Amino acid sequence: MNSNRASSIEQPHIIDGVAAASNVVESIKAKVQAEKLRPGLAVVLVGRDPASSVYVRNKKRRAEECGFLSRQYDLPEATREVELLALIRDLNQDPEIHGILVQLPLPPQINPNAVIEAIAPNKDVDGFHYSNAGRLGTGDIEQAMVPCTPLGCLHLLKQVLGDGLRGKHAVVIGRSNIVGKPMANLLMHNDCTVTIVHSRTVEPQNICRQADIVVAAVGIPKLVKADWIKEGAVAIDVGINRVTRTNGESGLVGDIDCDNVLPLTTAITPVPGGVGPMTIAMLMLNTLNAAARSNRLAATLTV
Ligand code: NAD
Repeated sequence: MNSNRASSIEQPHIIDGVAAASNVVESIKAKVQAEKLRPGLAVVLVGRDPASSVYVRNKKRRAEECGFLSRQYDLPEATREVELLALIRDLNQDPEIHGILVQLPLPPQINPNAVIEAIAPNKDVDGFHYSNAGRLGTGDIEQAMVPCTPLGCLHLLKQVLGDGLRGKHAVVIGRSNIVGKPMANLLMHNDCTVTIVHSRTVEPQNICRQADIVVAAVGIPKLVKADWIKEGAVAIDVGINRVTRTNGESGLVGDIDCDNVLPLTTAITPVPGGVGPMTIAMLMLNTLNAAARSNRLAATLTV
C-alpha cells in the first residue's frame, strides 16, 4: 500500500449501511402509517439452501417491521416449474399482494427466466423482469422497478456526494443483470460517465484508477487493491464472499481490500454492514411504491 498517497486527503469515512437502512425503514413506516397503506410482500423460497433461508427470514422480518402484510411460501426442493408458475399466477391476481419475490437461485429443474417473466411487472419488486430492465435502460425510471442492490448503492452514493454525481467518472466492476448492468444504468441516469469493467477487461486496475466512484460487484475476495484506487474516490463494495480466516474462523469479506483501500478514499462501504442492509431496505421501498401505485398514490419515496 502507498501510504504517501493518502496523506493529502481528508479522513476517509466508513459508510454506515446499517444506519442508512434503518433511516429508510423509519421513513417507510411513517409513510405506511400516514397513508394507511397495507403493502403486501410475498416471498417464495424453493428448497432449503441455508443462505437463501437466512435472506428470506431477514426480508420477512423487515417487512413485518415496516407494517407490511408479509407472506412466505416454502416450497419443497422437488417443486416443478409448472407448480411455481401456478403460484405466481395466483399471486399476480391477489389484491393483497403488491410485491412478489422468488428467492434465487432456484433448483435446476426450474428455469429462473421463465419464473421472472411470469411475475407481473408491477409486482416485480426485484426489478428483474424484462420490462423493468427495459424501462431502466431507456431512462423511464419513474415507472421502473429498479433492482434493490444497485438502488441501495445509489442511495449510499447520494448520501456521500449529494448532487455531486454529475460528471463523475464511475467504474462498475461486474456486468451481471442483477447488479453491474442496472448499476451502470442508474449512474448514467444520474449524469455520471460510466465504464464497465468485467472478466475479459484488459488491465482493469488501470481503468479503475481513473474512477471518482468505484462500485465492485464481482464475487472475488479483495480483488480491488489499493493500486486500483485514485485518491479521494468513493468506493462501494457489493461483494459478499465467505472466507476462512487464518484463525480458522469463517467470516465475510467484500471484493475490495478494505483495510488498504480505506486510507485512499473519501468514503467506503464495509462488508458486512454496507450494501447488504440497504438491499433489504430497497426491497421494502419497492414494495411500498408498488402498493402506492396500485392505490393510485404517487410513488411515495425515492432515492
Ligand atoms: P455474478 O457472478 O453474476 O457476476 C460477476 C461479474 O464479475 C461478472 O459480470 C464478471 O464479468 C465479473 N468478473 C468476474 N471476474 C472478474 C475479474 N477478475 N475482474 C473484473 N470483473 C470480473 O455476480 P453478481 O450477482 O453480480 O454478484 C457479485 C457479488 O455481489 C457477489 O459476491 C454477490 O454475493 C454479491 N451480491 C451482494 C448483494 C448485496 O446485497 N450486498 C446483492 C447481490 C450480489
